[in-house]
Amino acid sequence: MHYVSTRATSASAARNPQLFSDILLGGLAPDGGLYLPSEYPQVTGAELDAWRKLPYAELAFEILRKFATDIPEADLRALTARTYTPEVYRNARADESSADITPLRVLEDGANGKLVLQALSNGPTLAFKDMAMQLLGNLFEYALARNNEELNIFGATSGDTGSAAEYAMRGKRGVRVFMLSPHRKMSAFQTAQMFSLQDPNIFNIAVEGVFDDCQDLVKAVSNDLSFKARHKIGTVNSINWARVVAQVVYYFRGYLAATTSNDQKVSFTVPSGNFGNICAGHIARMMGLPIDKLVAATNENDVLDEFFRTGVYRVRKSSETFHTSSPSMDISKASNFERFVYELVGRDAERTHALFRKVDTHGGFDLSGAPGSDGDEFKLVANYGFQSGRSTHADRVATIRDVADDYGITIDTHTADGIKVARERMQPGVPMIVLETALAAKFNETILEALGADAERPAGFEDIETLPQRFVVMPADVDRMKAYIAEHTGL
Ligand SMILES: *Cc1c(COP(=O)(O)O)cnc(C)c1O
Repeated sequence: MHYVSTRATSASAARNPQLFSDILLGGLAPDGGLYLPSEYPQVTGAELDAWRKLPYAELAFEILRKFATDIPEADLRALTARTYTPEVYRNARADESSADITPLRVLEDGANGKLVLQALSNGPTLAFKDMAMQLLGNLFEYALARNNEELNIFGATSGDTGSAAEYAMRGKRGVRVFMLSPHRKMSAFQTAQMFSLQDPNIFNIAVEGVFDDCQDLVKAVSNDLSFKARHKIGTVNSINWARVVAQVVYYFRGYLAATTSNDQKVSFTVPSGNFGNICAGHIARMMGLPIDKLVAATNENDVLDEFFRTGVYRVRKSSETFHTSSPSMDISKASNFERFVYELVGRDAERTHALFRKVDTHGGFDLSGAPGSDGDEFKLVANYGFQSGRSTHADRVATIRDVADDYGITIDTHTADGIKVARERMQPGVPMIVLETALAAKFNETILEALGADAERPAGFEDIETLPQRFVVMPADVDRMKAYIAEHTGL
């Protein structure tokens, strides 16, 4: 299995065949594109039959071995077994089994169709990013040990990504995490989750500034190529291929758990931001999983909904980006979207490159086929099953209330965006699976607003704010930041 960049000419792709391990620790391809397999491995009906009863870890092994062909199978099996265990996914609700890893719950089965919730948020940080990041932590440790290397992950977070990365990398040999966050700007719960980690390889840096200052510092340090190389600096952002492929597994799991035969189809609704999660659904569908619709649910930051309604992709300025009550979906552009556009334009890397150059120069592109547009491929979108919808703060509050009244459970704000949109897209005969991307306890302010009561916290999280915290406060100063990293990497 080889990987190509969405911007690579066929000559450079042929000269530079990349294996899974080659792209594991990196982000963007050197030409600025994103990696994809040169072709998608296919699944047969016999495989799906055999996989229907597999434990999650074994299903993960079966799928990953099709993509990570350069990792010995015994090693890959050990890595997935260590990652997908009930000990890691222990925050399941009382009526769920943590052994299922991503248990399904039928919310409704009536004249409108069947509405199902797939729990992806029972890992250590109570959000779906753990599903991929926990595997990444084990893969990184494995790959670094094999090559006797070290890696220093340097990133900025306003919440979910940073904590998922820290909980995945804590205690891992060969890895350190330097995570910047805006000082006193995260919720008390999210701050406590990150700062209570006492592992010596985790460095929490509270920057005196806002999230954009943190991101600017990461960019400034990363642009210093010699510093970056000397201190072995890397990232774990959502474009990392291994993260995307780890997410493919739960689409298979959801499908297999919701059906009894491969003649049946299901649809998925995915609370979306950077298009990483739903991109994994697209890949599962391209592999032959019988998925009918893939519905992207956005909040007020509706870049993706706009594209799937009109064919126009228009990134937002930071002044146009709303701070919403589903903050992990507050994006100005969808960093994984290029992977789908590449497909849509017939895997034409030159065209893909031109379109994303236009994103940089003109803020977007138009595939609607209208006079003067950049192409007419929007008419092909339906072939890939994509649909979309949008939700607002008022929708979230109303949906959290409805779901509590109708089904007796408390959902988080991002999942509420998903349910709101899924209800508009349900069809009799095709189960609609909504991916639960976080637990309500993480976003309690809106739960309080909707229900007048606090969200329930899983066991062990009751007094998280009172735990001792380990962090340093620093001004938004590049030289101070570099000195801190140099001091602690000892390189
Ligand atoms: C990251 C995140 C999302 C968005 O996922 P993408 O892969 O960026 O589309 C949605 N909900 C929650 C809770 C998240 O943390």
